[in-house]
Amino acid sequence: MIVHIEKCHKCGACVGSCPQNAIYLNDVMLEFNENCNRCGRCVKICPVGAIEMEGKK
Ligand code: SF4
Ligand code: SF4
Repeated sequence: MIVHIEKCHKCGACVGSCPQNAIYLNDVMLEFNENCNRCGRCVKICPVGAIEMEGKK
């Protein structure tokens, strides 16, 4: 997963959307752990398009 952190305003929507609890948001960064199964929910839910999946636009 690629995060465009400069776009992210840390609303937390992606964290809540992840069925795998794979997203962590801290003060500076959005991180993904190995539980991510690339379902794409977080990509769709982000209001500013800050999350991108490698190989998909
Ligand atoms: S792609 Fe799916 S599993 Fe992976 S972090 Fe996003 S919502 Fe969670
Ligand atoms: S949904 Fe988008 S803007 Fe909100 S915290 Fe996640 S990446 Fe950042």
